[in-house]
Amino acid sequence: MRETTLDRVEPSDYDAIVAGGGAGGLLTSLALTAEGKRVLVLEQAKRLGGVWHGYWVGDFRVDQGLHVVTRIRRGAFVRFLKAHLNPPPEFVLHEGWHFRVYDKVGTIPSSIGETLRWPLTGVRGRLGLARIGAKIKTMKLEEMKQYKDITFREFMESKGATNEVMLDVMQSAIYMAAGVSIDEASAYEALRTLKDTDRESSRLQSARRLIFGTDEYDEGIAIGGMQSLVDRVCDAISGEYVLNAPVDKIAEKGGNVRGLVVGGKELEHNLVISNIPLWSMPKIVTSNRPDVVQFFERWSQMRVTQGVTIWLGLDEVVIGDRKSRVIVHPRPETWMISLSSFDPSCAPTGKELLGIATILHEGRTAEEMVNAVKSNGLKEYHEEVLKHIEMEHVQTSYATRAALIPGQTDLDRPGPETPIKGLYIVGTDTSGSGVGLQQAANSAEGVLTAIKAQSS
Ligand SMILES: Cc1cc2nc3c(=O)[nH]c(=O)nc-3n(C[C@H](O)[C@H](O)[C@H](O)COP(=O)(O)OP(=O)(O)OC[C@H]3O[C@@H](n4cnc5c(N)ncnc54)[C@H](O)[C@@H]3O)c2cc1C
Repeated sequence: MRETTLDRVEPSDYDAIVAGGGAGGLLTSLALTAEGKRVLVLEQAKRLGGVWHGYWVGDFRVDQGLHVVTRIRRGAFVRFLKAHLNPPPEFVLHEGWHFRVYDKVGTIPSSIGETLRWPLTGVRGRLGLARIGAKIKTMKLEEMKQYKDITFREFMESKGATNEVMLDVMQSAIYMAAGVSIDEASAYEALRTLKDTDRESSRLQSARRLIFGTDEYDEGIAIGGMQSLVDRVCDAISGEYVLNAPVDKIAEKGGNVRGLVVGGKELEHNLVISNIPLWSMPKIVTSNRPDVVQFFERWSQMRVTQGVTIWLGLDEVVIGDRKSRVIVHPRPETWMISLSSFDPSCAPTGKELLGIATILHEGRTAEEMVNAVKSNGLKEYHEEVLKHIEMEHVQTSYATRAALIPGQTDLDRPGPETPIKGLYIVGTDTSGSGVGLQQAANSAEGVLTAIKAQSS
């Protein structure tokens, strides 16, 4: 894809116009390229990628967020990249989740046997966990759906699963996946995360996993960082892009999309794919039709999740393994990964890059959160880290465009189609199961399927 300017754009040169060049918009463009189409991407910022992004801070290469890619073996994101990039990008699997509860450390038990030996609770806690764990692992997706409007804590209480340590560990796991606490996360979304599935498995498969467990953590880090992926995806797309080009209006006439207005210029087209966050769309879509107004107005108050990522460049290797470390106590929201042990190219030789993710709570500043993380879990359990800091860099942004709370689950969200023919929506707030980039890729697949269905 080549950069161009608005004054040179001729809409009829393109098969589709994509408004917004975040992960959703770019992955859709990549898939359209594979169908032989040319696209025009209009991006309001001065670079492509949205929150899918990476850059250098001194000698350390950081991403926007920790960017652990879920479902490396079977997810839509990696499938997209492997199908369309040559050579395919490389990912390194991580070696599991380690939850620290005060001075004890345990992984997520993956079988009944492991649960009954779990070091983080006493015998009663383990029995309770085995009971609820078995229930969750064998639950069908259809059954989970009935819990979409209650919180995960309500679900657990309704099943009598109230052991505090178990709930704290789940609190941490759900924070990492949903960006909100178990008092807010939709039980359906939390259950899917804990079962780690977006598709149905047979009773036999579930039973086998319960008995034998699995050490298959299907998650990892992209070698070369996120920016190299963004750049390669942009190179592979057929078409052009314009930066600093905020789309002001998307116009409808007679039920069809007519085109859009960008930088005062009108571009007519009958296929527009919007990657603009849904909460901005009521201001952008112009239509007198009540169904259209209602459709977009519904999402104007969407709640996002706010993340804080603390990057620490250390002057020597202190952690040095490929694990996801979650510090559950005293606060259940600190997640730490040694990125340079997955991908040494992000730190100078002999040094270490640590990423620490946490949640930005309403009413608190990023600085307060950084101090809380340092003086709680880090000071207590990883004091060595604090003694070797050479670089410190803090990022804040929305980590997910739609928090996984009741009313905003993937079952509630609208999907790729709108009441306007020829206008499709893509992005993590539209629909698509999974988290983050997986969700963006799933939503891009949804758009492609909808466009094909419409044209056949
Ligand atoms: C801190 C953090 C940690 C994360 N961790 C992970 C992780 O570990 N694993 C994972 O898979 N994912 C992770 N993610 C999530 C993942 O990066 C995002 O879910 C995904 O990149 C979002 O893609 P999107 O298409 O929904 O949206 P966005 O990135 O929001 O893209 C929307 C684009 O549209 C543009 N735009 C908006 N309005 C207009 C307009 N009017 N005109 C033109 N352009 C417009 C924006 O500038 C932007 O480029 C993380 C994200 C963050 C920020």
